[in-house]
Amino acid sequence: MLKVRNLTKRYGEREALKSLSFSIEPGCFVALLGPNGAGKSTLFQVLTGLFAADEGDVEVAGLSLRRQARHALAHIGVVFQQQSLDLDLSVIRNLQFQADLHGLPRSVAAARISAEVERFGLAADLRRPVRELSGGTRRKVELVRALLHQPDLLLMDEATVGLDPKSRRDLLAGLHDEIRRRGVTVLWATHIVAEAEAADRVLVLHRGVLLADASPQEVTRLLGGATLEAAFIAATQ
Ligand code: ADP
Repeated sequence: MLKVRNLTKRYGEREALKSLSFSIEPGCFVALLGPNGAGKSTLFQVLTGLFAADEGDVEVAGLSLRRQARHALAHIGVVFQQQSLDLDLSVIRNLQFQADLHGLPRSVAAARISAEVERFGLAADLRRPVRELSGGTRRKVELVRALLHQPDLLLMDEATVGLDPKSRRDLLAGLHDEIRRRGVTVLWATHIVAEAEAADRVLVLHRGVLLADASPQEVTRLLGGATLEAAFIAATQ
């Protein structure tokens, strides 16, 4: 579903990504674990076409981000680290706007919005301005928005930062439900080790380089710690 080959991204002299290569099979939940400054956001900005990489290429569902960007990006849904809803618009207006951007017919959009909103327990908030909602509810709205065009690959950049434990758990539960129902592939960037422990695979990124790419248990063993957290801290100190 996702192939990253020899990806390098520089900011002036600084290399934020250093010839990064990995691939992700369909239906996998993959955690991208890295401390602050590891290059996670840079990678997401390249994967979503906001920045062009200096070297290397990305394929999404077999489509090159360099040569077939529009088609490749149509397979991607994204929740960015910074909240990006229009605070003055209602939940439904935010969702309809996204559906329009993707060219979804109004009837299809309405059916999807009502199904997803029900599933994420947002029905009572549909007409409220986003400004009135809690951080956890806003995140759920962003997830619903990212899923409206039924992407094959979902990118989540530190999506649980600032959420309380219940909101975090609810968001992850909704995501796992989506994986079961539609087989969506998820790349989940985080610096919270507990979130990576529940993933099928963990990519450990440090200073733009992958230190490990394996199951949580295998990464713990490879990086030489008693727990994933101990291994992660030791490897990225
Ligand atoms: P993370 O998301 O893992 O915290 P980033 O991708 O934000 O990491 O940052 C990776 C590196 O690139 C850091 O050293 C950071 O200071 C640098 N960096 C990120 N964005 C910019 C930018 N716009 N200009 C210059 N340096 C940047």
